Amino acid sequence: MNGFIQWSTLVLALVHKCYAGAYIPSTIANNKGSAEYWTCDTGVDLFTFDYIPLGLGPYSEYYDAICGYPPAIGTILICSVELAYDKSEEYHELIFKTATSSCDQYSSYHYEWTYYKEQYENATKYYQPLDEIANISLPLYAPTSPNLTSLELEYKGYRGYYFDLDSGTWFSVGICGYFLLLIVISAIHNFFRQTSIARSINNSKFSKLCQKYIIFPTLFPNGKFAQECGWTYFSGLFPNRIQFITDVFLFGLQIAFYCVSYEYKGTWWFGSPEHAWQRFVADRTGIMAFGKIPLLVLFAGRNNFLLFITGWSYSTFLHFHKVVACWMALDTLIHSVAYTINSLGYYVLYLQDTYFACGVAATVLCGVILLQAMHPFRKFFYEYFLVIHVVLAICFLIMCWYHCRELGWLEWLIAACCVWFFDRLIRIIRMSAFGWRTATLTVVDDQLMKVEVPKPAWWYHSPGTYSYVYFAGWIFWENHPFTTVLEGDNLCAYIRVKRGVTYRMWNRLIANNNKLQCKVCFEGPYSNGGSPKLNKYEEALLIAGGSGAPGILENAAKATKGKMIWVAQSLQTVKAYQPLLEKVNIEIEIYLTKQDGSNRACTVQDLFIGSESENLSTESSGKESDSDKNVELKGDLNNVSISFGRPNLDELINASVNNSSAKSIGIMACGPPVMMDDIRNIITKNVTIWDKSVDFFDEFQIW
Ligand SMILES: Cc1cc2nc3c(=O)[nH]c(=O)nc-3n(C[C@H](O)[C@H](O)[C@H](O)COP(=O)(O)OP(=O)(O)OC[C@H]3O[C@@H](n4cnc5c(N)ncnc54)[C@H](O)[C@@H]3O)c2cc1C
Repeated sequence: MNGFIQWSTLVLALVHKCYAGAYIPSTIANNKGSAEYWTCDTGVDLFTFDYIPLGLGPYSEYYDAICGYPPAIGTILICSVELAYDKSEEYHELIFKTATSSCDQYSSYHYEWTYYKEQYENATKYYQPLDEIANISLPLYAPTSPNLTSLELEYKGYRGYYFDLDSGTWFSVGICGYFLLLIVISAIHNFFRQTSIARSINNSKFSKLCQKYIIFPTLFPNGKFAQECGWTYFSGLFPNRIQFITDVFLFGLQIAFYCVSYEYKGTWWFGSPEHAWQRFVADRTGIMAFGKIPLLVLFAGRNNFLLFITGWSYSTFLHFHKVVACWMALDTLIHSVAYTINSLGYYVLYLQDTYFACGVAATVLCGVILLQAMHPFRKFFYEYFLVIHVVLAICFLIMCWYHCRELGWLEWLIAACCVWFFDRLIRIIRMSAFGWRTATLTVVDDQLMKVEVPKPAWWYHSPGTYSYVYFAGWIFWENHPFTTVLEGDNLCAYIRVKRGVTYRMWNRLIANNNKLQCKVCFEGPYSNGGSPKLNKYEEALLIAGGSGAPGILENAAKATKGKMIWVAQSLQTVKAYQPLLEKVNIEIEIYLTKQDGSNRACTVQDLFIGSESENLSTESSGKESDSDKNVELKGDLNNVSISFGRPNLDELINASVNNSSAKSIGIMACGPPVMMDDIRNIITKNVTIWDKSVDFFDEFQIW
């Protein structure tokens, strides 16, 4: 709640600041007229004016003359208009507006832009050419124009500088546009998947080739996607092929944007050409970094409407969150290094300026955020990672704000804050709507517990939805995602014990004789699609393993034709899901990996009769041969077959698809990471061989 209040305050402050007309300078194309004005500002420097400054502005000593004394105003405006390549009335207007804003900021005068237009028109009547002035070291009493040829190099420098500022913004828009394009393509693909269009298309050779080489595979053939790669303390998650391809395009765009002409051409801009070049690189990359902040925040949000539009999983968005974050960090690094070189000799002096010190702080924070978000830290200390990550991100945004509050580009920050605020607001609304409800926790298997809580009337449930579960207690804000299933009027989560909150709750449960009443809050429902995914296919092939079973069982209950393959440790584990299992009408093949017995077939109901479990006990351990193990035992009424040992998923999936009479099959899987990678690799290998329209829905998520 505190977080919400802080965010509300920050966002309201930002909005207030904008609407109060506070100075939020430039983003795009806002600098037209500036190159001419500031070049002529240097040109006017050569002249003296018989004028006493009012002294009300921060730089009145210099600016009061060129903002309030007609001969000086006329000189700078005539020079600017003559210098400009664009001779249109509209462009003149932009020059007058630049004069207005700079005078407003630095001088004692706060005129409307039309004042400067009139001053210009007046000046043209009294204009005195430079070569007619006898002694230019004496004060001027009529407007003139400095020698424009001598200002040419500086003018090019200024044009380059402003081009560069605008290019940074355009390139930021370009990156957003790139993601927009991905979103549009994915939205179309998702629409096809939600309707029966994909079913027809997926049987074409082209579609199958795309599935085999782009959409389904892990990055490397037979590689890892759900499983982590590397070693215990030096690990990471690999993207899949399609994610990698989009990353490569992003890489290309970034490099192109870094390299596109800086319009620098050896020109002068506040120093030597090298100095100018460092500054141009620094400015462009700094603005590009800013332009990524809203994307970063959007992709990390739970209530991202794009989840529905694209059908991407939350973990895919988090992948893009990480990739964009890395590019933003690189932009920031280049920006900071270029500025540091540019500031050599003055660095310590500049550090006394708030904007500069905050820029340095933002860069350091960015580096720290990147380091603390490394995979091993997330893996071992997820809760600490999350809290530290959010706190550092808030500090980073604040530093960025103070870095740029007088320079501009704050729109990006405001957009990011609004997106973040919106996400938190929806989270709070979801939590408030659910409230703290009394849940019953029970032990259902070894290291598996069930949380049951009455379903609110408004809760929209569909198979595969998940919620973030909060347990009341000391660390009540800690929340973890769990698949949520519907059993009667109750929402349930089947939770496998890990090391954190699940372990603490398990210990409380055991200490309380395996049953516990406790207040919980379900923040949800979340999903990445909404409607059932498999009903557009003639047949469903559902594969479950480990704690991935609940979502798959609910999907199986909706299927009318097809098969479910379930790899579980023991019959006890299977029985833990009795209420869900009883709703399944399709064929179920169960493989028990940590129990021995004779293969057999039965009805779902038989599974829960005491004597049945005895028949399946360890007595016959090791007696049957491997070939016996996987014999199909299903009778007419028996839709469950039980086999013992680890199944060969390659054979099973192939047989299921090949032996099916259906023309289209939707495969859905959720299980442990190793199993998920196996399934992905098997489908990738075979999809072009299968003569059916096949689609694969990976329900496993890791981040
Ligand atoms: C969409 C989704 C649905 C899930 N459904 C189920 C389910 O139905 N049943 C089930 O048993 N498990 C499910 N999980 C996994 C479950 O979220 C983690 O096991 C749980 O967060 C572990 O909590 P812990 O505090 O004991 O974790 P720890 O022992 O502290 O961590 C174990 C691992 O879980 C990861 N993890 C921890 N917290 C989070 C978090 N808040 N978000 C993401 N990852 C985290 C960490 O990377 C770590 O590697 C699901 C995960 C996702 C993403």
